[in-house]
Amino acid sequence: MQRAEPQDFSRVLSSMCTEPHPTARDAAERFLATNPGDPGTYETVAKMEREAVDLLGQVAGLQDAAGYIASGGTEANIQAVRIARNRADTRDPNFVAPASAHFSFRKAADILGVELRTAPLEDYRANLDGVAELIDDDTALVVGVAGTTEYGRVDPIPALSDMATDADALCHVDAAWGGFVLPFTAHAWDFSDADIDTMTIDPHKMGQAAVPAGGLLARGPELLDELAIDTPYLESTSQVTLTGTRSGAGVASAVAVMEELWREGYERQYRQSQTNADWLAAEVRSRGFDVVSPVLPIVAMDLPHDLVADLRERGWRISRTEADEARVVCMPHVTRPMLQEFLADIDELA
Ligand code: PLP
Repeated sequence: MQRAEPQDFSRVLSSMCTEPHPTARDAAERFLATNPGDPGTYETVAKMEREAVDLLGQVAGLQDAAGYIASGGTEANIQAVRIARNRADTRDPNFVAPASAHFSFRKAADILGVELRTAPLEDYRANLDGVAELIDDDTALVVGVAGTTEYGRVDPIPALSDMATDADALCHVDAAWGGFVLPFTAHAWDFSDADIDTMTIDPHKMGQAAVPAGGLLARGPELLDELAIDTPYLESTSQVTLTGTRSGAGVASAVAVMEELWREGYERQYRQSQTNADWLAAEVRSRGFDVVSPVLPIVAMDLPHDLVADLRERGWRISRTEADEARVVCMPHVTRPMLQEFLADIDELA
């Protein structure tokens, strides 16, 4: 069989992953044969994982962070719901999340037997009255999203965390994608802005680490302890992760790239991505199409179906939002020349 090659990124417009930074790629390769799921045996990578969590804590405004490098945002979100469920003093727990929340929360509800209550949106963000109406004595968790998947919107995190506190529930922030761009904005989203208990923040998205490197952070180790399971046959005695054997490559690449880019490198990347998003939005608007203004570097545009189909024919990898807009995520590999080429194709095909 011919040797298969991965896709190149020159026409990938909607992915939330990107080409790993060269430092991340190198570290991933070196640590391929390591398993942080067995820290007693794989000591070096286990130590690196603590560094990774520490660095993620710096990005998210949390000193002495607890947490681990997960397989991705899905696992981190599931685990956050699991922590809240295990801690809650009810037989019939529920959690409240805005309609914009990632579908991984639906998986969490299904797997964990916790009811998901979906709050309405207002201008793409959680509507606070709507959230308040859904909270009751059985609410274990209130979720806010810091950088929504479709429109890059940031929920009113401090208000949501106040509501969680009043209800004796936990507050989880899903910053899986937004966590590496939000530090350079004025949004209130991190542990220093609000009484947040857990957070999803993924190095393998805007952090430019190799897949798989998601991140779960918790304000303190006692929250993670809610997940602890005894591990009789390993050298270590308990495990809080969802998966057993895990990728040391993901852990090593996350540490390497965060050490390299936090914080100037990430700030430079954010500015470039945001400038590109603003530029693309203005260009597409000037051609007569509606555009949802990019608060963070994600542009949703009302392009006709036929046009999107033709663009796909030309190799552009572009997805649609639930409301049917075409969506461009300005990841690090999405450069200005690439967007110019994309616009030239729109002009030719429209
Ligand atoms: N949360 C948000 C906000 C996301 O955008 C995504 C994926 O795009 C996820 C969670 C799930 O992350 P993963 O695909 O790494 O499991």
